[in-house]
Amino acid sequence: MDNREEAVIVNSLVRQALVSAQEVMGDNGLNAVLRTSGLERFIGNFPPNNLEPSIPASQYARLNQAIEEFYGRGGKGMLRRIGKASFQYGLREQSALMGVAGVALKLLPERQKIKFILNGLADALKKSNSQVNAWVDESGDRLAYIESTCAICHSRHSPDPVCHLYVGSIAEAVHWATGKEYQIVESHCMAKGDQYCRFEVGEVRA
Ligand SMILES: [Zn+2]
Repeated sequence: MDNREEAVIVNSLVRQALVSAQEVMGDNGLNAVLRTSGLERFIGNFPPNNLEPSIPASQYARLNQAIEEFYGRGGKGMLRRIGKASFQYGLREQSALMGVAGVALKLLPERQKIKFILNGLADALKKSNSQVNAWVDESGDRLAYIESTCAICHSRHSPDPVCHLYVGSIAEAVHWATGKEYQIVESHCMAKGDQYCRFEVGEVRA
């Protein structure tokens, strides 16, 4: 995107992230990170479920960073759990948007099941925010999900990938589609200087 500086997150997605963080972290944990990331206006006051612009993407990235730092070594795992809860919220509240309402995948080959839900995630994000660009990479042996407008790492710099919340959401999505625990690896991250964040669907965990 040309105007990455001006990237915004819509209300419904901020709401989804805050509800999920509240489920996983509890009120005290959530309120603490809202304060340290300059989002205290959302304490006890989540944004409404609509597609109005809510906060700059850079601030959404700061919230993610604040959660990671709040939990120290447990931060990555905590963000993954929030990502999982976030996919479950999407299933509950936005099943039509994701195209999963009443869908049965049972008879599809495994790769098709995974492709279906990754496309559903990308489409839902693109429909809710015209700035978003996300797609499924089918070029390799392993399917991958790519977003070139990732807000989780917006303005961040890190030698390692930082989009742990995204990893959790994709893991939960693939679990929903296949019933299996696939390992999701963030192979590229814009925080490392890559052109996009890329999440590869790896091995099934034993
Ligand atoms: Zn990333």
